[in-house]
Amino acid sequence: MRRIGAALAAALALVATACGTEPEATPRAAAPAPTTTTTPTTTTPPTAVPGPGGTTVPVFQHPYPYGTARAKPPASPDGLVPVVRRIETDQPHVFITIDDGAVRHPAALELMRSANVRPSLFLNTKHVQEDPAYFKALQDRASAQVHAHTANHPNLQGKPYEFQKQEICGNADYLQQHVGARPRLFRPPFGNYDANTRRAATDCGFTALVMWTAAVNDGVVQFQAGGKLNAGDVVLMHFRQTFVEDFLAFLERCKRDGLTPVPLEDYLSAPRP
Ligand SMILES: [Zn+2]
Repeated sequence: MRRIGAALAAALALVATACGTEPEATPRAAAPAPTTTTTPTTTTPPTAVPGPGGTTVPVFQHPYPYGTARAKPPASPDGLVPVVRRIETDQPHVFITIDDGAVRHPAALELMRSANVRPSLFLNTKHVQEDPAYFKALQDRASAQVHAHTANHPNLQGKPYEFQKQEICGNADYLQQHVGARPRLFRPPFGNYDANTRRAATDCGFTALVMWTAAVNDGVVQFQAGGKLNAGDVVLMHFRQTFVEDFLAFLERCKRDGLTPVPLEDYLSAPRP
């Protein structure tokens, strides 16, 4: 009690001193009133918020309750995992996927949270094992979902089945053990795959092999066809030094094209509606 009292007295003395040493008010009476931070009374959510390095982060509202299935899982034509390049939908939805995990940018978590966007992460064991907590935080605190991208990022095409299975299942096992949930989606490195890749991915328990229809590099969104993003596009970017520029370029492009990024899992791996 005495110590608290002493601390309080010291704090008050400090405040008094600070006030006492303040310069006299200048005769300029028209000084603006001090600005105070108040909670907005409006219920309209912001469309943008300040981001890292003086940037502006576009904010997206969830168009439906995330975590609910929007479609049946894609059909398998031959009993093996289907290959998905884009999502068939009449809704203005797009999907952001972020690969590898080579550079763990410190602003990534806050950017995802600020934008209110939940990316899908296709991660390699060799990168995640350098700092599993970084990726677990993206999953737990930004609701990003972690998926498989092989252990060591080899070109799978033409490799023996056993080699591919080890790369794919081993990666899924590692992510399940060190990040959390069992990955449901798989993306082959470089987008290269063959029949053995689909067999191995099937045997490892995946629901889809995911490709992409647009990419972000050096802060520029690149389209495979046309000059804009379209509903159902799957966009690829990477964990790089340019994470902020790349992620913001994607978000701004979505706003411009009237699209909302939603979780890929809701279209590909959620339980059937
Ligand atoms: Zn990759």
